Amino acid sequence: MYWGLIDKAKKTLAKEEGTIIKPWGGKTTIAIAYPNIYHVGMSNLGVHTIYQHLNSFPDILCERVFLPDKDEDQRYINTNTALFTLESQKPLYKFDIIAFSISFENDYLNILRILNLAKIPLQREERKNNYPLIIAGGIAPSMNPEPISDFIDLFVIGEGEEALTELVESYKKSAENGYNKDKVLEKMASIEGVYVPGYYNVSYKSEGTIKEFMPESGFCQRIKRRWIKDINRFKTHSIITTPHTEFSNMFLVEISRGCKWGCRFCATYFIYRPYRRRGLKNLGDTVTNALDKVDKIGFVGADVLSHPGLNELCDSVIKKNKKVSVASLRADSLNHTVIKYLKASGHKTISIAPEVGSERLRKVINKKITEDDILNAARMVIDNDIFHLKLYFMIGLPTETIEDIEEIVSLIKKLKHHILKASKGKKRIGRITLSINSFVPKPATPFQWHPFDDVKSLNNKLKIIRNGLKREGNINITSDLPKWSYIQTLLSRGDRRVGRIILAAYQFGGDWKRAFKEVDINPDFYVYRQRHPEEIFPWDFIDHGIKKEHLFAEYQEALA
Ligand code: SF4
Repeated sequence: MYWGLIDKAKKTLAKEEGTIIKPWGGKTTIAIAYPNIYHVGMSNLGVHTIYQHLNSFPDILCERVFLPDKDEDQRYINTNTALFTLESQKPLYKFDIIAFSISFENDYLNILRILNLAKIPLQREERKNNYPLIIAGGIAPSMNPEPISDFIDLFVIGEGEEALTELVESYKKSAENGYNKDKVLEKMASIEGVYVPGYYNVSYKSEGTIKEFMPESGFCQRIKRRWIKDINRFKTHSIITTPHTEFSNMFLVEISRGCKWGCRFCATYFIYRPYRRRGLKNLGDTVTNALDKVDKIGFVGADVLSHPGLNELCDSVIKKNKKVSVASLRADSLNHTVIKYLKASGHKTISIAPEVGSERLRKVINKKITEDDILNAARMVIDNDIFHLKLYFMIGLPTETIEDIEEIVSLIKKLKHHILKASKGKKRIGRITLSINSFVPKPATPFQWHPFDDVKSLNNKLKIIRNGLKREGNINITSDLPKWSYIQTLLSRGDRRVGRIILAAYQFGGDWKRAFKEVDINPDFYVYRQRHPEEIFPWDFIDHGIKKEHLFAEYQEALA
C-alpha cells in the first residue's frame, strides 16, 4: 500500500462538498467506476445520479473510483497497491459489485486498465466466485455491448436507475441463499434490461457476418432497453461539487431527457426516446436549494431550449446575482432572452451545430434547421455582445459530395460577412471557431447500415475546408483525427470478436496499429462495409423500442 496515493485521495475528498461516506459492515457494497480520470468522470451526471440513488438505501454502500492519472499507474504497480475507491480507500476487489458507467467507446481500453490495476482478471471467464461482479451501463454499451462482452459479466441496457435497484435486491437475495456467481447471474438475467453475455452464443457465416444469436435455454431472445417514464422520480443533478471538474463548482441539473427532433445520425435521439421533461416545480426547488451552495447552475439535456420553463428558471438564478449555463442550443430555437441570461452569466462563446454546409445534406440527416436560422442565430449572438461563435460540423455523412464540403466553406464566409456587419459600431469583432468531427454511423440509428467514410477521403475533406478558409481572418478550425474516428467506429459497431482486438490494443499499451497486425480480424470489415439490408447486427438482440424496418425506411428516405 502506497501512502502517497491514499493521501492524494484524501486531499481530493477534502475539496469536495456533498460526499457520502458510510460505515462498512452489513451492506451490499458497490463501486461505481468511471473509465476516465476524476476531472472527466465528475462532470458526468450519470455518476452523480447512481451514486445518490444507491446510497439512499440504508443497506447499500456506494463509492466511486476513477482512472488514475497516466503517471500513477506505475506507482500502483511498483508499490503493489490495488486500485481503491475514493471514499474508504478500500481496494476494488473487496466490493460486491463494480459498476462501470460508460459514455464513450474510446474509454473501453480504460476499463481494462482499471481492472488490471485493481488486480482483477480482465476476462469474465477467468473470474470465478471470489471476484466482484463486474457490471456496465451507459449510452455506449446500451447501443452495442458486444465488443466488451468478454470483459463484463452483466450489462444494464438503457436507463439504469430502476434496474440497478432491482439488481441489488436480487444480489442480496442470492447472497442470503449462498448462491455462487453463476446462480447470481442467472437470477439477475430475468430482470428487464439486463443482458448477461455468458448466456448467449453467436455463430457466424463463412463471409463473417452473424448467422445466429442464440440464448441458452430459459433466457430471453431479446433484451428490452429500460427507460424511466417519470424522470421526476429520480434526482439527476450534481450531488458532489468540486473545483476539479470540467464544470468547476457548477451545479448541474438535468432539465429534460431525450430529444424530439430526430436527426438521423443521432444516437442520443434513438436511445433516449421519448423526450421527457422534468417538472418546473421540481426543478425550481432543486435550483433554489443549490443556489445556497454554488454560484452557477448548468441546465443539462439534449434539447434544453424546448423546456417551456427554461426562461423562468434562468430568471430566478440571475435575479439572485448568480450565473447560468445551458448545455445545448439549437439555432432555430435560440432567442434573445436566453442569450441575455448567458451574457449576464459571463458567457463569451455561444455554440450551435449546423452539422453540414448544404441545405440538401441537412435534409438527408433530418436536421431541421435552415441557413437562415444559422445566420439569424449569429446575428442575435453579436447583437447581445457575445463575440465568439462556435460551430459544430460533421464530415463523411451519407451521400456527401465535395460540393457539400465546399458549401461548409461558403456558409462560413457568409456567416463571417454577416457577423462583421452585425459587429459594426461595436468595440469588438466577432470570431468563429469550427469544430469538425468525422461522422461515425452508430448502432440503433437509421445510418447503421452505412459505412464509415474512408480516412484518406476525410483528411482530404478537412484539407478542402482549411484551404478554403485559410485567407479568412478571425476563423479558427479544430478537428478530430479521422483515424481515431475509425477506431471509434470499430468499437461502436463491432461484434464480440472485436474484444480480441481491444485486449491486444490494451496489452500493447494502446498501440492499435500493432493490435490490428497481431490479431487475425480485419477491422475494415466492421468499419468500411456497406451492410446488407437483411444483415443481423451484433446489437439486433436489443429492443430499443423502434422497429428495424422503420430505421431502414428512414435510411432509404435519407438516401433518396
Ligand atoms: S437536435 Fe441534437 S440531440 Fe436532438 S436529435 Fe438532433 S442532434 Fe440529436
